[in-house]
Amino acid sequence: MKELTARQVKINDSFWSPRLAVNAEKAIFHQWEQLEVSRCIDNFRLVAGEKDGFRQGFFFADSDAYKWLDAASRIYALHPDPALAALMDSCIALLGRAQMDDGYLFTFNQLHFLGQRWINLQIEHELYCHGHLIEAGVSHYQATGRRDLLDICIKAADLIVRDFLNASNDKTCGHEEIEIAMIRLYQVTGKEDYLELARRFVERRGRIPFFALHVLRQLRSYHKREEYISVLRRNYLAEHPEQASFRLPGDNFAKKPKHSRARWYLNMLRGFYHQQHAPVRHLTTPVGHSVRFGYLETAFAMLCRESRSDFQSDSSMHAMEQAWERMITRRMYVTGGVGSAPEIEGFGGDYDLDPELAYAETCASIASLLWNWEMALLTKKAQYSDLFEWQLYNATNVGMGQNGDTYLYNNPLAVHHGITRKEWFSCPCCPSNLARAYADLGKYIYSFDENNVWIHQLISSETTIDIGVPVKIKIESELPWNGKVKIHVTPETQKEFKINVRVSSWNSSNQAEEQMTASGYDPRQSGYETISHVWSPKGEILEFNFNMSIQLRRAHPKVKGHAGKVAVTRGPLVYCLESVDNPDVHIFTAQLDPSSLRDEFVPDLLGGCVVIHGKTMDGKALKFIPYFLWANRGESQMTVWVNAL
Ligand SMILES: [Zn+2]
Repeated sequence: MKELTARQVKINDSFWSPRLAVNAEKAIFHQWEQLEVSRCIDNFRLVAGEKDGFRQGFFFADSDAYKWLDAASRIYALHPDPALAALMDSCIALLGRAQMDDGYLFTFNQLHFLGQRWINLQIEHELYCHGHLIEAGVSHYQATGRRDLLDICIKAADLIVRDFLNASNDKTCGHEEIEIAMIRLYQVTGKEDYLELARRFVERRGRIPFFALHVLRQLRSYHKREEYISVLRRNYLAEHPEQASFRLPGDNFAKKPKHSRARWYLNMLRGFYHQQHAPVRHLTTPVGHSVRFGYLETAFAMLCRESRSDFQSDSSMHAMEQAWERMITRRMYVTGGVGSAPEIEGFGGDYDLDPELAYAETCASIASLLWNWEMALLTKKAQYSDLFEWQLYNATNVGMGQNGDTYLYNNPLAVHHGITRKEWFSCPCCPSNLARAYADLGKYIYSFDENNVWIHQLISSETTIDIGVPVKIKIESELPWNGKVKIHVTPETQKEFKINVRVSSWNSSNQAEEQMTASGYDPRQSGYETISHVWSPKGEILEFNFNMSIQLRRAHPKVKGHAGKVAVTRGPLVYCLESVDNPDVHIFTAQLDPSSLRDEFVPDLLGGCVVIHGKTMDGKALKFIPYFLWANRGESQMTVWVNAL
């Protein structure tokens, strides 16, 4: 399958267009402001010698600036706003001034440990940061055709090729990302070294002898470096007491299980946390930090698509398919969220899916979207785009508040207290990741080859796809609120080809009863409806009316604490009870009468949405809203799973 760029697809969708407009007109500017307020951008000014101060943020804070540039570039490709261009230009020029002559750019070392580099690769995210820099450069070049940021990235990439292409197996980054970046840089430059280095980075994982000792040494070195920085900070503040009041925004709140620190150590020492426990072709179970896992699998799949003969082997595909099956059958929440172990921000054991402990980081869902898109293109199986749809509408979409200026980091399925949307976080990895994912939405709707067009997502949009003759396709979709979809197909001249329209798993109403998966959601029930004939240039219309009935999903009996509970879904949306809508009911103990459910479109609630009304067994009203819309009305309690016998 071949893919389109987001720029080749014009989205005109009553659900998505307003959300994408919030992303392009508000969220991206809010994020820039927060990068300034939190002094992330100042770190580069300090390096460039243009400001006095002390470096702020985590060792990987540079990546937030790069991810913002990446998101801004992708947004700019569709909405060329001069105000956004001006911000990008000033940021790019600053990066140019902060970069060392040989291409190195990592403010943590440049400010505190000048001359030291690549010291603690498993811990300090140095290559991860360079990876996001490179991705930003590729996106900026694709959006503008300009080379200023791309040249900065090539300089950095060439340094990394010099230092890592022929390095030993321990020379990999603890947080995958550089692999995706190198593949994308290869795709725009054609330089084989970048692709080869990505391949080696992926191949090297899981091959570090005595990994526990290796990583402990790095951890000790990192702690020493942090202690040294604390001393520097104390000395700096003694000389500049006026700076003492500066505080980074708070961290995200996550409810953690007992002995979290010990669990993290154990997971890390065994190599799971960094996906260093086994070579990638043996990685048949999703483990460790879930964003890292998702980026590794994405890079692995991208390498397979680049089809180097030694890479796209049966064992590669088999490993990825096994890992995916294990994830969707045993290690994924009904929202599509992944990562049930907050202590490692990652995967717990099979059927270990506590709704309140759920970490389900927004970035982990985004990483899964990237992986699933690659898998859809590699395998031509509908299940991957089905999961993409489910994770997009639920686990991903929940991450950004309605106005684009508040975010959720982790996304539990039950909240008694403590989680609210925040303007920013001390680790603000999710907001810009969301902004770049939204900006790219058009890319994930269609794909094609010489005889086929695939429609993966039913999002109202238009495009022209060249499959020998140009074919104009227009989707008119009423999803996610109604099931009516029309697809207009108009080839420039008469041509025989196939249109493959993905029919979602939720269209089948028997899914909820089978309990083949831990969550009650099974993307494997999705398939393509193929329409094959000679299409006329006069244009034809395909019409669908998908099943939008309310479904009650039950968790697998092995998932603890879920007996006698249901998750309410309708179309691609998971619903929840939020206390603000149910002031007279205790949402965690209410007993739903399943026969009482009915839906209603409420135009003035949360931008207009279908709510689901129900009753408790003793006749009290219950009101469910789409999960992605929760936490937009102040602090409240929420639950996805409700009691229903
Ligand atoms: Zn994140």
